[in-house]
Amino acid sequence: MLDNFNRQINYLRISITDRCNLRCVYCMPEEGIKLVDHSSILSFEEITEFTKTAVRMGIRKVRITGGEPLARRRAVDLVRMLSGIKEIKDLSMTTNAILLTKYAQDLKQAGLMRVNISLDSIDPEKYRTITRGGEIQKVFDGINSAIAAGLSPIKINCVIKKNIDEPDAAAVQKYCDENGLIARFIDEMDIEKGQFGIVHGGSGGDCANCNRLRLTSDGFLKPCLFSDISFNIREMDYASAIKLALDQKPECGLNSYSNKFYNTGG
Ligand code: SAM
Ligand code: SF4
Repeated sequence: MLDNFNRQINYLRISITDRCNLRCVYCMPEEGIKLVDHSSILSFEEITEFTKTAVRMGIRKVRITGGEPLARRRAVDLVRMLSGIKEIKDLSMTTNAILLTKYAQDLKQAGLMRVNISLDSIDPEKYRTITRGGEIQKVFDGINSAIAAGLSPIKINCVIKKNIDEPDAAAVQKYCDENGLIARFIDEMDIEKGQFGIVHGGSGGDCANCNRLRLTSDGFLKPCLFSDISFNIREMDYASAIKLALDQKPECGLNSYSNKFYNTGG
């Protein structure tokens, strides 16, 4: 499906929870987060039905994200439901990998094709500081489990402050090179202030070629991370929500007061 700027929209990112087992400094405040009420969270059936409609309209690529998607109970079941939609050519997940050792094999069996894993430093202390308490060994174990399960190609998302030559980024690049992983470096962004970064080695941050729609865990379809435009998929039929999002997808977003990475899905 084409939007008003002739962009082919074929990619849906689905945030399945706004909860997370980490508190990365650039993503979530340490406390006082207003979380979505459990009763508002989309059920797996709602997500699957919505995705089927989106696929009928042209979506071919789906990413499950969050919050931390593996922090939602039975996330593997959702993967199985989505992988049953045969027109989806690329079904992936973005995860912090803390729980990946437990789930990698099951995710693969359920039909997940690949994972992107967030890792900003390979230094245990720095990792603990950035994530406010994360244990890096769990991430390394999770990555190894993903490799063993064949969830590849595995991409590593590394948020950078200034440039890809900074020491933590260089060390992550080396770790990726040694382990057959693809490193992608993401400029730290501030959605509220409209500080918009690019993804070095990836496709994010390029408005002219943006192909995405985003579905939040509480059922709002958003055409742009840097805009407050959203449509409640529970208040209209799914196809109408998709048409509206397509029609109102901005040429380039400016900023957003309602979107956060953890609720809108990075
Ligand atoms: N919890 C999962 C994870 O961390 O991989 C999935 C959700 S997280 C919101 C998705 C991606 O958004 C992560 O790679 C994270 O680094 C990125 N992210 C979060 N806040 C960001 C920010 N302020 N600027 C740039 N990237 C950000
Ligand atoms: Fe959680 Fe991912 Fe945000 Fe870190 S970046 S706080 S892991 S949602």
